[in-house]
Amino acid sequence: MAKKKPQGRATRSIHAGEDRPRWAHSLTTPIALTSTYVFEDSGHIEDYTSGKRWHCEYGRYHNPTRQVAEARLADLEGAEDAVLFDCGMSAVSTALLAFLKAGDHIIITDDAYKRTLSLCTKLFPRFGVDVDVISFGDYAGMASKVRKETRLIFSESPTNPYLNIMDLEKIRQIAKSRKGLTTFIDSTFATPANQRPLESGMDVVIHSATKYLGGHNDILCGVVLGSRKNMDQVRDLQRTMGGIPDPLTCYLLIRGLKTFGMRMERLNGCGYSVAEFLESHPRVRKVYYPGLKSHRHHALAKKYMRGFGAVVTFEIDGNLADAKRFLDRLKLCQIGPSLGGVETLVTHPGLISYYDMNPKQRKALGILDELVRLSCGLEDPEDIMEDLDQALEGSSAPRRKKGSARSKHGS
Ligand SMILES: *Cc1c(COP(=O)(O)O)cnc(C)c1O
Repeated sequence: MAKKKPQGRATRSIHAGEDRPRWAHSLTTPIALTSTYVFEDSGHIEDYTSGKRWHCEYGRYHNPTRQVAEARLADLEGAEDAVLFDCGMSAVSTALLAFLKAGDHIIITDDAYKRTLSLCTKLFPRFGVDVDVISFGDYAGMASKVRKETRLIFSESPTNPYLNIMDLEKIRQIAKSRKGLTTFIDSTFATPANQRPLESGMDVVIHSATKYLGGHNDILCGVVLGSRKNMDQVRDLQRTMGGIPDPLTCYLLIRGLKTFGMRMERLNGCGYSVAEFLESHPRVRKVYYPGLKSHRHHALAKKYMRGFGAVVTFEIDGNLADAKRFLDRLKLCQIGPSLGGVETLVTHPGLISYYDMNPKQRKALGILDELVRLSCGLEDPEDIMEDLDQALEGSSAPRRKKGSARSKHGS
């Protein structure tokens, strides 16, 4: 019997996980702005509590708009279920807490999102959870830390700002050695369009949907995805902890997802072009982009990813003053944290995310003063490159040999 061909990603981004017809035959998803829901009569209550009839009970537990967003994200990620939160950090913290108890041990990689690291290294120990932070890519070190109490391994891929790529197969192998060990991947920088960690054997995937999934720099949202059993555990804790996204945010996420396939194609292309442009620029010392052959994890990126995203990190050939001059000369690109939206954003990790450290401490973390992270938006790539080029020309660093090599190729 011929298997039904699954619908394409673009189609599913618009239609998956939603019943037809919608309320009042609305074409778009209704926004259910209600804090609670009513029962028709006592029989309805009994049908609901006995599981005979599905019913929305109360806003912290259910919301039909949120359910559509969750179903759509689960479909895109290839997950049985998804739980939506009011931001990425709610998703991370609730998901981890749902699996932990005092006496457990966890392993996390050292270039995880700053707040995720502080959750694991500062908060969890207060509740008797032991933590080992291992350096990214040290798989032998990771394996050696696994012990009887180890409950979970948390990693990210790609990471911020160097876009390191995790060998998911290696983590899967390490996790297999211990029964009851759960693997978590924060896949925000990849999105389900570019990477599908569940297919590589990871147990739980997390996204800050604030970034590419929402895609318009106008909402905060987070999602946890995985098996129904694991998500039941996460959803149950969410009902206790809160962290519920409001219905309008859910609608904006659904709206953003309608163009997800298209946006990612375009952003992958733009990221690649801009990375190549910067790599050949005489005032750029080094570019970090997993799609480039020069990236140290290019082979892993090709193995696990279908596209490499719109974030490009690079070092200006100069010092902090040159980096500041570059930022100050930008006209189209705006200075700000976050990524994955329609507006191009540039951030200086040293001055913004790690402002509380001195240059020496930053350097120890590998955050150089000349380091800039770019998140390409949906503007014309030529305009983004032109703006970067004019801003880089203001850098006082001397033009190097590389520049003449480029003009030689050009002639
Ligand atoms: C932004 C981000 C988060 C936090 O998400 P919020 O939506 O800002 O709470 C977590 N992990 C990664 C990789 C992120 O980029």
